[in-house]
Amino acid sequence: MRVLLVEDDDLILSGIQTGLQARGLIVDGVSTAARATAMLSAVHYQLVILDLGLPDEDGMYLLQRWRADGINLPVLVLTARDAVEDRVAGLRAGADDYLLKPFDLDELLARLHALLRRAAGRSVDVIEQGALRLDPERGEVTLHGCPVVLSRRELALLAVLLHARGRILSVDQIKDSLYGFSEEIESNALNVHIHHLRRKLCADLIETVRGVGYRFNMANT
Ligand code: CA
Repeated sequence: MRVLLVEDDDLILSGIQTGLQARGLIVDGVSTAARATAMLSAVHYQLVILDLGLPDEDGMYLLQRWRADGINLPVLVLTARDAVEDRVAGLRAGADDYLLKPFDLDELLARLHALLRRAAGRSVDVIEQGALRLDPERGEVTLHGCPVVLSRRELALLAVLLHARGRILSVDQIKDSLYGFSEEIESNALNVHIHHLRRKLCADLIETVRGVGYRFNMANT
């Protein structure tokens, strides 16, 4: 899951970023409304975490503008304002959920997964494909009921491929969903992760489409 985090408090930003990344999410952090809008038009995110008190624009107005522009991805609002009017106004502006500061990281994570499930119209976000089962919230994968231990990146890569349901994904599309903006990517990193996934699961599960990208082979599970 790739998340855009908009928060102008450096400490809170790095705290959330570190915590969520340790739990397998890809998090890009920005501190202004202008930067957030620029990132949204450049990168495909699954979710936004938005602080309301930003230096260049009130988060509530920013959100209203996004919604008016047709940006409809789930937005979780972070705010220190606990007045009821603010919450109602935030929801009217198009927020999908609310979390008051200070909050627990596990609660944030649970809310993010709940938002994603809602956005996908499913009650659980476990993906099952043949004998393969992936539980993104717990970070668990089983094949024929046996646990498969995957690294954080391998897990994210498998989730991206499974979500595409057999569609071909280009190398750039996959990299976009695996790496944050500021992360250094070794040129052959993706090949290495694909290689490991094939070894741990089954060589035929991930198909290389020459010159185009990769796809999950739905017929082979
Ligand atoms: Ca703030």
